[in-house]
This record gives sequence, structure tokens and C-alpha cells, in this order.
Amino acid sequence: MRALPAESLVTATAAQNNPRQVHGAAYSWVKPTPVKAPQLIAVSRRVATMLDLTSADIASAEFADVFTGNKLLAGMQPYAMCYGGHQFGRWAGQLGDGRAINLGEVKTARYGHKIIQLKGAGRTPYSRTADGLAVLRSSIREFLCSEAMYHLGIPTTRALSLCLTGEKVPRDMFYDGRPQLEQGAIVCRVSSSFTRFGSFELPVFRNDIPLLKKLVDHTIATDFPDLLLNNNHCFNQTLYLKWFAEVAQRTCRLIVNWLRVGFVHGVMNTDNMSIIGETIDYGPYGWIDNFDANWTPNTTDLQERRYCFAAQGEIGQWNLFQLAKAIYPLIETAEPLNEILNQYAENYQQQWAQMTAEKLGLLHCKGDADLDLFIELENLFAQIETDMTLFYRQLAKLTLSAHTLTVEEWLPILSVSFYFPEQLSDTLQVKFSQWLNCYRQRALQDKLLPEQRSEKMNKVNPKFILRNYLAQQAIELAEQGDFSEIEKLQKILQNPYQEQVEFDQYAVKRPEWARHKAGCSMLSCSS
Ligand code: AMP
Ligand code: MG
Repeated sequence: MRALPAESLVTATAAQNNPRQVHGAAYSWVKPTPVKAPQLIAVSRRVATMLDLTSADIASAEFADVFTGNKLLAGMQPYAMCYGGHQFGRWAGQLGDGRAINLGEVKTARYGHKIIQLKGAGRTPYSRTADGLAVLRSSIREFLCSEAMYHLGIPTTRALSLCLTGEKVPRDMFYDGRPQLEQGAIVCRVSSSFTRFGSFELPVFRNDIPLLKKLVDHTIATDFPDLLLNNNHCFNQTLYLKWFAEVAQRTCRLIVNWLRVGFVHGVMNTDNMSIIGETIDYGPYGWIDNFDANWTPNTTDLQERRYCFAAQGEIGQWNLFQLAKAIYPLIETAEPLNEILNQYAENYQQQWAQMTAEKLGLLHCKGDADLDLFIELENLFAQIETDMTLFYRQLAKLTLSAHTLTVEEWLPILSVSFYFPEQLSDTLQVKFSQWLNCYRQRALQDKLLPEQRSEKMNKVNPKFILRNYLAQQAIELAEQGDFSEIEKLQKILQNPYQEQVEFDQYAVKRPEWARHKAGCSMLSCSS
């Protein structure tokens, strides 16, 4: 707040939350809208600990008041951030925190600085025609998924708490002109930065280069301090390029990780791209059940499939290109920016190959023959619906030895990962056998002990993911006032790579009833 310009208004009252274009400022002062009956329904104790909050704090009546915005603590000066973005490939102008309000920033004892943000705490100058609120179902999805992502070892914003507001919110979930009243909820999100690619695009679009420079310098100083240190504390072109390269690296790593676990973000607009390389803004995201490179959970994107599973890497580059254009005025030469973008593509290919090798229990991707092996497996997945998560866990159970694997040996182990095992034709059986034996020979070259191989595989292939239908079941119970499933999923997903046999029924294929059910297979942006 001290480092960046605020919109010049003396106070923030509800009246001042009228939608407007905000120029020359990085944020606006706002006040959360008070809610009727705050009720804490889920909490992440680890995030609380990170923020130096105690069990007594969580148990206090004050907790729900504070984390719904009903009560401001001393030092809290809430604000909403101004940013723009490209949505589905088109420049969308000013967007901003339409329903996110930052309560402030804390310096934690062990985890650096953290910003505390409420999502769904009422209108801001950036709400445009919307209400600034969030409903229970999407808040549960954000709460559970961001914590699950963290425990998968993937950079993400965190979630401290999930509260009901005691108010009803109208939502037209199917966009069919039949809005329903849903329960309002607020998630408290935590991250060291909520700055997005779009935060840099907006000032450039408005030709406000001084604001752009302030934002870039502040971001580097606050969240990339090592880069600044290694550049003798000098803000210059060299530093900006190193920073852009670092953002590209983080974006690349993030997306490769998403592909590893079968996550589809669903709305990779530039306003949903975190500058520090975290997964941010959990909307109509989804998890791959049967492996399908073209799958998207987002109903708005069904035609184009711009943000489908396999397109995410390329979209990362497209988004970085928008960021490059945004920071160009500080660099004034395109070539090094282009080089970084090209490097991204190379890194992405290389990291994808390494990640796939590791999923298969191979030490490294050793070149074209390995790449052929990886691609052939995806071709097989395209011929019979195969559950990606189950397949890799089951593959780790296969014993590989000098003798040829027979169908009788592999089928009983791998067949649970097929949605319709009866569709495994003789031809396909032969193809799988061929692939498995190529794989067997390749894996044996690495000379790992069988248990070493399976242990390595199980460290990168989760057993438990937040399957779309699991989230939906927790939502349906919660809407009836039963929050136990949220807690249970939260617990299971804290150890996604461990066997946890007592929860085996949470590591199964998507049931058939969930195949076409809203919330389980498809989601709209309505949240
Ligand atoms: P999203 O697609 O959720 O990333 O949102 C795109 C933009 O719309 C962001 O500026 C959001 O803050 C804004 N937005 C989404 N939902 C709401 C809402 N219910 N009220 C106000 N603004 C919203
Ligand atoms: Mg967003």
C-alpha cells in the first residue's frame, strides 16, 4: 500500500464502490460489505499456523467475523486491486478485483510476507455489473482445490478459511435465464502476491509508463529480491529481462506440473496468471479422469477448447507474450524478449519430457525413442478410455523382468484403469502388450530395483486427486448443512501420494452417474 499509488479518494464507503475506470492507481480503498450471519465451516490449520494464528484464534467467535470482513482488526486497510487482461484471446480492458478484497499484508515469523484476501466480500469499483459475491459451491471448490494443489507440491495460492455469510445470492448457473438463490460464502485466500500478468497490461494499454515501472519495480523488490540483489540493487533493462525470464521459468514449471497431475485450469486468461507462478483463481477448473488431451471443464470454452488440457503449455507462452508486450516500454528492444519466449517453448518441451519420464519411473528422457514411447502411450489412451491417475499408480505395481510381459500378467493389474475393460479388443490388447514390452525394456536400462522404481513413480503420480465428482458430493452435502465431507476430503488430500488404504474408495474411477452431471463433468463460469 505504501509502495504503490492508491486511487485518490479520501474514504471508502459503499457509495464509492460504484463501478468505474480507475486511472493512475494500482488499487482502490474499499470496505468489505458486512454480512448477516458469518459461520466458519472449514479451516486450514496449516495456513493458520503459517500466519501465526493459534487454535484459540480459530476457535474464537471473532474469527468468522474477521474472515468475512465484518470486523476489521487494527491495521487492516482493505483495498481492491486494479488490473486488466486478455480474456479468451481478446483484450478485455480494465477488470480488477471485482469480488476480492485484500485485508492487508502480514509479515509472518517463518513464511515471509503474506497478503490476506477475502473472495466474495462485496462490491468494489471493479465489480462492473456483478454483485461482488461468491456462492458456497464455488467457494468449496476453491478452498479444497487450492489446499490439494499445495499438498501435491504445486505452487498455488492458499486458503485459510471458508465461511458462510448467512445470505442468499442469486446465480444463473446454467445461463438459461433461471437464476436460483444459493448460499453465499467467503474464502480467505493467502499468497505473497496476487499480482497478475494483467496488472502490467492495463497501465501499458493506457500508456501510463510511470505506473508500469512502479509496479514492475515493486514486484521485483518484493517477490524477486534475489534478482535485485544479484543486479547490485539496480533497476535496469538487464534486471527486467532476468525477471521476465524467471516469470517464464515459473510459468513453465507450473503448467508442466498441472499436466503431471491432470489439472485443467479452465480459464487461463491473463488476469488469472499469477506473476509469481502460482495457480490462482480456481473457477471452472477440473481434473482429468479418463485421459483426453482435448478435455476442458469450462462450458464457455467448449467450442474453441482454447484452454483444454493439452493446450495449457502453449497458452502459457501466449500469455507470456502478452506480458512481454506489456513490459516492452521498460526494455525497448524486442529481441531478448523473443529469445525468452522461444526459450520457454524449448524448456516446456524438455520439462514435459522429463516429467513424463518420471511418471513412467524412468530416470531421464533419453531422446527421440523415449519421446516416441510417451506419445504412443497417449495414442493408446485415445483408443480406450483410461483413467490417467489410476493407470500410473497401477503401472507402478507391474513387475518388470527379463521375460516378456503377457496379457495374463498385465491385464489384471491395469484393467481397473479402463472405463470399459470389455472394450479392450484383441488388437488393442496386442498394442498394449507391445507398448508395455517396449516400456519394460526401456525401464530395465535404468537398472532400478523394482521397489525403487515404484517408489519413484508414486512420488510423482498422486493416488488421490480432487476428482470433480468428489468435490460435487462434498458440495451437495454442504448445501444441506453437512460439512463433514469437506473436512474428510481436506484430510485425504493432504497426503495425495500416500497409500492411505482406508480411503481407497476415494481413489477410484469417476462413477458413470457423474459422467454428464453438471459440476462433475462440466462447469460454467457462474460462481
Ligand atoms: P474470473 O473469470 O473469475 O477470473 O473473473 C473475471 C473478472 O470478473 C474479474 O475481474 C473478477 O473480479 C470479476 N468477477 C467475477 N465474478 C464476479 C462477481 N460475482 N462480482 C464482481 N466481479 C466479479
Ligand atoms: Mg480471475
